Amino acid sequence: MVDQGGHTRRQILKAAACGAAGIVLGAPVRRLAAAPLQTAQGVNTLRLTDDLFVVKIAGEANVLAHTGANGVLLVDGGSAGAFDALMKAVSDLPGGGPVHTIFNTHWHPEQTGSNQQLGQAGKAIVAHENTRLWLTTDVTWPWNGRRFTRVPKIAQPNKTFYGTGQLDSGVRYGYIPDAAHTDGDLYVYFPQQNVLAVGDAVSGEGWPVVDWTTGGWIGGIVGGLQRLQTLANEDTRIVPARGPVLGLADLKAQYAMYATIHDRLTQLLNKGRGPGEAVAARPTQEFDAQMGNPDEFVRRAFESLWAYLSPDA
Ligand SMILES: [Zn+2]
Repeated sequence: MVDQGGHTRRQILKAAACGAAGIVLGAPVRRLAAAPLQTAQGVNTLRLTDDLFVVKIAGEANVLAHTGANGVLLVDGGSAGAFDALMKAVSDLPGGGPVHTIFNTHWHPEQTGSNQQLGQAGKAIVAHENTRLWLTTDVTWPWNGRRFTRVPKIAQPNKTFYGTGQLDSGVRYGYIPDAAHTDGDLYVYFPQQNVLAVGDAVSGEGWPVVDWTTGGWIGGIVGGLQRLQTLANEDTRIVPARGPVLGLADLKAQYAMYATIHDRLTQLLNKGRGPGEAVAARPTQEFDAQMGNPDEFVRRAFESLWAYLSPDA
């Protein structure tokens, strides 16, 4: 996930989350257990099973770590500045050790910051081919001017795929072609543990970033939520790039919410409205008390319809 507005937005989200008790969305029917571990300062590790952990470093996106006899598999790698802290946290895990494989759920630097060092060490970097392509080019977000510079070849994914795949360990992975967050989104499913990592295709905390410059769009958020439900059951623990571990009930609630918002935005688009008018129409209003200020999200989501649906876009 790429932070849009620093402090203010985070504080708003935090305030919104604190005020959200009792509202159905985000409060699943039953909380799926995850036990905190004692770890280093600034690192908060959740144990999902004996060999699967969510490593949360302060200010960083979630990293999922799977320990095994051959070392550790990661789903996402934090930002480059957190590399040392992440490697220490991973080697400190019960059964932890050096990383042998990392998945990039998408190209954003909050997920791919470990690639360079892991690539130099000869480790496998697995991603959808589109993620590799975005990392080979410079990207600028038109809405805030944020620039992303291409990464060296050694930091690019060295094992890419288009559809689905399976590792020798039985871990399965696949493309989320709906383009919920980018057009390179992937999931990783751990069948023995019944844990599904989904990156930023699902936001576990506040409104998502709709990165339409690299293919994400509001219709993809809806489609991705629908698709991911087919990979999960009532007991599946779903690990997004941000926020707490989710369950199937959360995906269902989010699907209903984003489908509603998608319909409203499409209607506004069909009436010839623009992004500012879409924000003013308050298409998210019944969700705002829980989700926080929607303006950035609505604007990006509306622009993403332009990017997908307008004939001359
Ligand atoms: Zn992201």
